[in-house]
Amino acid sequence: MIELETLMAEVAHTVETIKASKLCTGCGKIKLRTDYYLLSGEYNRTRGYIMAKCKECHKADVRQSDYKGRHPRRAVLSARDYQKRNAGKVAAYVAFREARTIQRTPTWASREAMEVFYVQARKLTTETGIKHHVDHIVPLNGSTVSGLHVESNLQILTASANIAKGNSF
Ligand SMILES: [Zn+2]
Repeated sequence: MIELETLMAEVAHTVETIKASKLCTGCGKIKLRTDYYLLSGEYNRTRGYIMAKCKECHKADVRQSDYKGRHPRRAVLSARDYQKRNAGKVAAYVAFREARTIQRTPTWASREAMEVFYVQARKLTTETGIKHHVDHIVPLNGSTVSGLHVESNLQILTASANIAKGNSF
C-alpha cells in the first residue's frame, strides 16, 4: 500500500516541476524555466520574464537568421566603431530625439502603458529575428500635424516598414 505521505510528496513534486516548466513555442517541448534565456531590459528582468523559445531554439534562430548571430564580434565592433567615429553626431541625435519626446509627452500619458509597446517590440525582435520598432502613428515632428508621445499614438512596426513610413502621415 502506498503511504499517503509518499503520495502527497509526489503530487507536490509534480506541481513544483510544472511550475518550474514552460512550453517552448519553437520545438513544442516542455522544458524547465532554466532552459530559457531571460528577456533583456530592466522591466523584464525584474519580473523574471523569459523568452518564448528555449535556449536551444533561440540559438538556432540567431545562428540561421541574422548577421549578428553569424558575426557577433564583428557586428558589435562595427556599431561601436561607428558610434566612436561619429560620437558628436550620435550624441546630438539622441539629445534631439529625447528633447522632442519630452516636449510631446503630456502629463496624463501612462508610462506603464507605453512600456508595454516597447517590451513587446523587443520581444517580437527577439522571437522573429526581425527588428521591430515602436512608431508614433502621428509623428512627433510631422510637417502638418505633430503627434503626442502617448500610448494611444503608439504602434509596433517592423524596422523596414517604419523606415519606409518616415515622418509621413
Ligand atoms: Zn525549443
